[in-house]
Amino acid sequence: MNMEHPIGDPDRAALGGQHLDVLIVGAGISGIDAAHHLQDRRPDATFAMVESKDRFGGTWATHKFPGIRSDSDLYTFGFKWKPWKGLPIASADEILIYLDEAIEENDLRDKIHFRSEVVRADWDSETQRWTVTLRQGPEGEETQLTCGFLWMCAGYYRHSEGYMPDWPGMDQFKGPIIHPQTWPEDLDYAGKRVVVIGSGATAATLIPAMAKTAAHITMLQRSPTYYYPRPKLDEFGETLKALELDDALVHDIMRRKFLYEQKVTIKRSFTEPDVLARELIDGARAYLGPDYDIETHFTPSYRPWRQRVAMVPDGDLFRTIRSGKASVVTDSIARFTETGLTLESGDTLEADIIVAATGLTLNALGDVALIVDGKPVDIADSWTHRGIMFSGIPNLASVFGYLRTSWTMRADLVSDYVCRVMDQMQSRQARSVVPSLREQDQDMIASPWIDPENFNSGYITRGLHLMPKQGDHQPWVMTQDYHTDKDDLPAADLDDGTLIYS
Ligand SMILES: Cc1cc2nc3c(=O)[nH]c(=O)nc-3n(C[C@H](O)[C@H](O)[C@H](O)COP(=O)(O)OP(=O)(O)OC[C@H]3O[C@@H](n4cnc5c(N)ncnc54)[C@H](O)[C@@H]3O)c2cc1C
Repeated sequence: MNMEHPIGDPDRAALGGQHLDVLIVGAGISGIDAAHHLQDRRPDATFAMVESKDRFGGTWATHKFPGIRSDSDLYTFGFKWKPWKGLPIASADEILIYLDEAIEENDLRDKIHFRSEVVRADWDSETQRWTVTLRQGPEGEETQLTCGFLWMCAGYYRHSEGYMPDWPGMDQFKGPIIHPQTWPEDLDYAGKRVVVIGSGATAATLIPAMAKTAAHITMLQRSPTYYYPRPKLDEFGETLKALELDDALVHDIMRRKFLYEQKVTIKRSFTEPDVLARELIDGARAYLGPDYDIETHFTPSYRPWRQRVAMVPDGDLFRTIRSGKASVVTDSIARFTETGLTLESGDTLEADIIVAATGLTLNALGDVALIVDGKPVDIADSWTHRGIMFSGIPNLASVFGYLRTSWTMRADLVSDYVCRVMDQMQSRQARSVVPSLREQDQDMIASPWIDPENFNSGYITRGLHLMPKQGDHQPWVMTQDYHTDKDDLPAADLDDGTLIYS
């Protein structure tokens, strides 16, 4: 398969004027999962998937920086229904091949309409339909269709641009300033001095990859991050494969193993954070040696897992630092200069290229303008219904995955739940369902979409004001806890008076 080319006809314009039961927005891993569930559980539903880019894959098509790979294992990041057969950590290309196979095996190729961006959706309570406005094709021509249900699988960040802080003097720097989300494919960094700003998962991925040819890489961080070194090869998984068990069985066992390990680690991050922190820090020390200044560069001030812990396969980041090809500076930027950076400490860093691994720009529901019965709706004013639907917004569900556990584990539970809601609508002969607060929900204490005490990565806290509120009891809470959701979501009462069917 040539991964550079779209898998469908990008200019297919047959959507305009159609009515569909369901419109899936986004052809990333969540959109493909949603389509699989819909076909499997509601085979009579008419549906299409629309994708603003000319390729499927979402995150894995957008990001093209050196070394791009998953941070999670693919047994849990992959689908429950399609065994992963490779090593636990996969490159973007391997993930795209897996998604391509999923599209082929589920006959979804003709369902996906590329270069079709949803810009607006108008709900009309009279007809109980959404009128969806799309920008399609290379010219961005507007077209409309109607659908009964909108299933948003648009991810959680703006794909067109990453988050770039506005530092003093940026315009003076003579070399390129690159954001990993918009990586120029012709960027030649061989023999160049590179400064990477940031020390999260993206920095940890691209530094070992760039160090192969760059003259030197400096990882500049304001404060240290936790890393989790683990072998690329999973011995237990290799043993299972050697036993010639069925692929689906190996996938299931490995999935359970990784979920169990995550559960134990996340629990320990609350019950014995200091012990866990010491283990993670000692992991870095083991690679970097006793003389390395671990205290300054690898000892974070927060509890582990309050931000995502970046995975380091075979300790590659640490090996690169140890080899001298990369080094770490813990300091803040005072300003950019013609030749690099001046830091708050007064030190300077010389650079030919600066990479700002500074994160994502969170967005809500793919930046689609929502109108309900003629009135614009701001999703930030709504209450989340189990982190899937929103008070006052009919016939719309959205996939937001886990931030600590693999995203797809939640996408999968959400897909099951949405199909169940649709079944419920059918059994009640209803054409609309809207989450509404009951009497006893009126005085709920509001809290943010993600509790910053629990998880406070910059990209989440920067965008929290765009997201819906949570209440203080179900169904108005998004737990972000797979081990709670796996039992609660499939058993959730769809007749508790918070879902109004008509
Ligand atoms: C570099 C990187 C690495 C990551 N690694 C991991 C990991 O290892 N494990 C993990 O759990 N998570 C990881 N994540 C988080 C990751 O984004 C999700 O796990 C997952 O890929 C999200 O899938 P998705 O389909 O929900 O959204 P996305 O991958 O964001 O795809 C959404 C799709 O919707 C399309 N879209 C958006 N708005 C519209 C619109 N209005 N109209 C039409 N189409 C639209 C977009 O073009 C895109 O193709 C990573 C994120 C990044 C940035």
